[in-house]
Amino acid sequence: MANNSVRTRFAPSPTGYMHVGNLRTALYAYLKARSDENGVFILRIEDTDQERYVEGAVDIIYDTLRQTGLTWDEGPDIGGPVGPYVQSERMGMFKQYAEQLVKEGKAYYCFCTPERLEKMREDQKSAGAVVGHYDGHCRDLSEEEVKKNLEAGIPYVIRQKMPKEGVTSFDDAVYGHIEVNNSELDDQILIKTDGMPTYNFANVVDDHLMKITHVIRGSEYLSSTPKYNLLYEAFGWEIPTYIHCPPVMKDAQNKLSKRNGDASYQDLVAKGYLSEAVLNYILLLGWSPKGEEEIFTLEEMTKLFDESGISKSPAIFDPLKLRAINAEYIRRLSPEKFREMADPWIDKAVHRDIDRDLLCQNLQPRCEVLGEIVDQLDFFDAVVEHDAEMYRNKKQKTTPETAKEALEALVPVLEGIQDWNRDNIFASCKQLAEEKGVKNGWLLFPLGIALSGKKSTPGGGTDIAAMLGKEETLARVKAELAAL
Ligand code: GLU
Repeated sequence: MANNSVRTRFAPSPTGYMHVGNLRTALYAYLKARSDENGVFILRIEDTDQERYVEGAVDIIYDTLRQTGLTWDEGPDIGGPVGPYVQSERMGMFKQYAEQLVKEGKAYYCFCTPERLEKMREDQKSAGAVVGHYDGHCRDLSEEEVKKNLEAGIPYVIRQKMPKEGVTSFDDAVYGHIEVNNSELDDQILIKTDGMPTYNFANVVDDHLMKITHVIRGSEYLSSTPKYNLLYEAFGWEIPTYIHCPPVMKDAQNKLSKRNGDASYQDLVAKGYLSEAVLNYILLLGWSPKGEEEIFTLEEMTKLFDESGISKSPAIFDPLKLRAINAEYIRRLSPEKFREMADPWIDKAVHRDIDRDLLCQNLQPRCEVLGEIVDQLDFFDAVVEHDAEMYRNKKQKTTPETAKEALEALVPVLEGIQDWNRDNIFASCKQLAEEKGVKNGWLLFPLGIALSGKKSTPGGGTDIAAMLGKEETLARVKAELAAL
């Protein structure tokens, strides 16, 4: 392990889905590590809160990090020098650290039952004392009494002796200097009655043992950080740099929650957002680049990222900006890649043979979110029901009557096309328009409606005809003629 190199960790709790705020934490921690040539990015699963445990949730964490390219250097699956990397497998490691503090007089065994604690608070209150925090009478038990209680098998927790006076402060890379009055801090529990560590205690000990240099996480942990610091101080351990990230909000009042339907990476990908685009957008949730450019590959992000660009004001999740970024990523795809990504969506709507490459040529420049193409393709299986009035259009100078005339003229022309492709179809239609002395639109606008039942389709009449094939095109035109 190179000395002084950056070591960051992503420490998700497996809750069943990857909130965009969590993914952002992972991204920043990854980028911070990668910005140092010897930097190490660690994945640690914090699965000790069994109540919140969700089956399959760890796989979601792995899958998301893999799909977004946030590769870790040490983690549960690949191991590393400071494992295990799953918190529940570390449970036996913590008590000795708490006992060390007891020996040093910085923590104590507390034998108070919840009822006793409650009564003590009541007594303090009725004596007129301000009951803001807990420091139990066990803090002052004699060694003899402690021994007696332990021997009697009375259950206990281990609490840290917090200072009663003074302030604890720290400097956060984003939020600046933060101070709390020690009198507001409870004597925090380190080890519970079952011998297991509390979440906070395990988190601090793990960060120390894993030699984390930069703790990057959501601002909801900001208020616990003074307590964490008092632990580092009690042990005499080096305090990491704290980088707390602003909350991700739906709007000024509300957090972006699972209920919004786009709070998770999985939700967004399921709607047809590209993984790279989501990651790019998430980068910008609370972090600003120095220049104008906002579209970055992961590698470019690594070169640019710097925690000084993180803002402390809440980041508002802006769906329109996400769309715009996604559209940009879609436009930048090669036609082959677009086809590959669009295919599963086309499959949902289209159950006949069509020219998908031509369809994709028409879709790619206009598509913002892949999932939205499904509704645009509803006419391929069968013409959408429509009214003859749809043919009435001022600009094209068309009416239901002229449409009939146009389609009648088109039938023999279409039948005569040998090599059925878009250019040939267009050339034949253009020639027909010239012969009849009409504008192209006078023929092609009705053709598009006859083939789809819609005024707007991905591609005009000749494109749709080419996609559908000769047989289906003629069948649809003739059926429409019969209806008109
Ligand atoms: N396990 C915590 C969470 O998922 C992370 C806490 C931390 O990063 O310190 O929110």
